[in-house]
Amino acid sequence: MAILVIAEHDNAALAAATLNTVAAAQQIAARAIGGDIHLLVAGSGCAAVAEAAAQVAGVAKVLVADHSAYAHQLPENLAPLIAQLVQEQGGKEYSHVLAAATSNGKNVLPRVAALLDVDQISEIVKVIDADTFQRPIYAGNAIATVQSSAAVKVISVRGTGFDAVAAEGGSASIEAIASVCDAGISRFVGEEIAKSERPELTAAKIIVSGGRGMQNGDNFQLLYGVADQLGAAVGASRAAVDAGFVPNDMQVGQTGKIVAPELYVAVGISGAIQHLAGMKDSKVIVAINKDEEAPIFQVADYGLVADLFEAVPNLSQAIV
Ligand SMILES: Cc1cc2nc3c(=O)[nH]c(=O)nc-3n(C[C@H](O)[C@H](O)[C@H](O)COP(=O)(O)OP(=O)(O)OC[C@H]3O[C@@H](n4cnc5c(N)ncnc54)[C@H](O)[C@@H]3O)c2cc1C
Repeated sequence: MAILVIAEHDNAALAAATLNTVAAAQQIAARAIGGDIHLLVAGSGCAAVAEAAAQVAGVAKVLVADHSAYAHQLPENLAPLIAQLVQEQGGKEYSHVLAAATSNGKNVLPRVAALLDVDQISEIVKVIDADTFQRPIYAGNAIATVQSSAAVKVISVRGTGFDAVAAEGGSASIEAIASVCDAGISRFVGEEIAKSERPELTAAKIIVSGGRGMQNGDNFQLLYGVADQLGAAVGASRAAVDAGFVPNDMQVGQTGKIVAPELYVAVGISGAIQHLAGMKDSKVIVAINKDEEAPIFQVADYGLVADLFEAVPNLSQAIV
C-alpha cells in the first residue's frame, strides 16, 4: 500500500513543510510497509507546483487536482477529495495520509479522519514503525508513544521533527485527477498576508525573538537590524504580541509557531514553558536577559546576563 502526502503550496510554489512531511512518509515506508509515496497537489493553476512536486526525492507519483474548487484549498472541498482517493479501490491503495501540521494541514486532516471514521494522530515528531509514532503532549513536556490500529492512519507531521528531503533529484510521474469535490458550503472571501523581506519564521535558519523586555514595538527595530545582518527571521513571545509590540503571526510557542532553527536568539524573554514549547528544539539557543535567574538560561546553550539595550547594539556592531 502507498502513503498519500498532501502537498502544502500557494498554487505557485511548493512549501518547504511538504519536504519534512515527505521525510516522515519515507520513514514510515522504510519501517515495514515499503510502499510508494504519492503527493497530492490540489489547487488551481498549480501546474508549476506539480512539476516541482515531481522533483521531490522519494516521491513516486504526483496526483494533480487542478480546479477552481481547490483554488484556496478550502478544507470543505479538499477533505472529501482526499477521503475519496483513500476509499478508491476498496480502500486498498493508501495505508497512511500525511500532511504538515500547519494551519492548512490542521484545517483539513481532522475532516479527512472524520470522513474515514478513524482517529487522527496529531503532530508526530518520530516514527517508530508503520503503526507507532511519538508526539509531544503537555506543551512538549512529555512525549507520548501512540499506536494506531486504524485501517488508514491520518497523521499530521510536526516539521521540526524531520529533516527535509531534497527538493530535487526525484522523477515522479504526474497524474491528473478528473473528479471534482465542490461541497458548495464555504467560499473564499479574502486574505491578509503579512509581507516581509525576511525569511518566514518556520523556515528560517536563524531567528531573533523579542519578549516583554523589549518594552515597546519601536524597540523591536533593534532586533530587525540584527536580524537583517544575520539573514534571520524575527519572532516574539506572547507577552510581546499581547502587549501590541508586534503582530501575532510573529508569536513563537505553544499557541504560536513551532520552530527549530539552527540558531535561536531570545532577547528579553523569560522562558515560560509555553514559549519553550515552540523553540526548545532549536539547535543552538542564545539568551540575553538581565535576570540571571530567568528560566530561559536553563535551555540556553549560551547565555548573556545583560541589559538588552546595551547588549543588542553591541552585538550588531560586532557582526559588522
Ligand atoms: C495557554 C497559554 C498559552 C501560551 N502560549 C504562549 C506562546 O505560544 N508563546 C509565548 O511566548 N507565551 C505563551 N504563553 C504565555 C507565557 O506563559 C508567558 O507569559 C510569556 O511567554 C512571557 O513572555 P516574556 O518572556 O516576553 O515576558 P516576561 O515573562 O515578562 O519576561 C520578560 C523578560 O525580559 C527580561 N528583561 C526585561 N527588561 C530587560 C532588559 N532591559 N534587558 C534584558 N532583559 C530584560 C526580564 O528579566 C524577563 O525575564 C501562554 C500562556 C498560556 C497560559
